[in-house]
Amino acid sequence: MLPVECRRCGNSVLVEKYSEAHTSVQWLGDAERSCPEFAQLAAAGEHSMFIPTCGALRGSIDDAVDDGRVGLSLRSYPTPGRLD
Ligand SMILES: [Zn+2]
Repeated sequence: MLPVECRRCGNSVLVEKYSEAHTSVQWLGDAERSCPEFAQLAAAGEHSMFIPTCGALRGSIDDAVDDGRVGLSLRSYPTPGRLD
């Protein structure tokens, strides 16, 4: 996974791209605290587990892919997360 920074809030996430349609985003901190856009949504009762990125971060990730900073992963499928 590669670090990508949100151009609006500066929050860093890890990104791995499996296919054109499948980009995996892993938050390093509490999204609702690190990103003002998520904080706003959370305050309105919408929680970030249903929205993978904020709008600015989505654009930042697209830019990183366009730049070639994030290329397609050679792994065929994401490793499942663990709850511990
Ligand atoms: Zn953000």
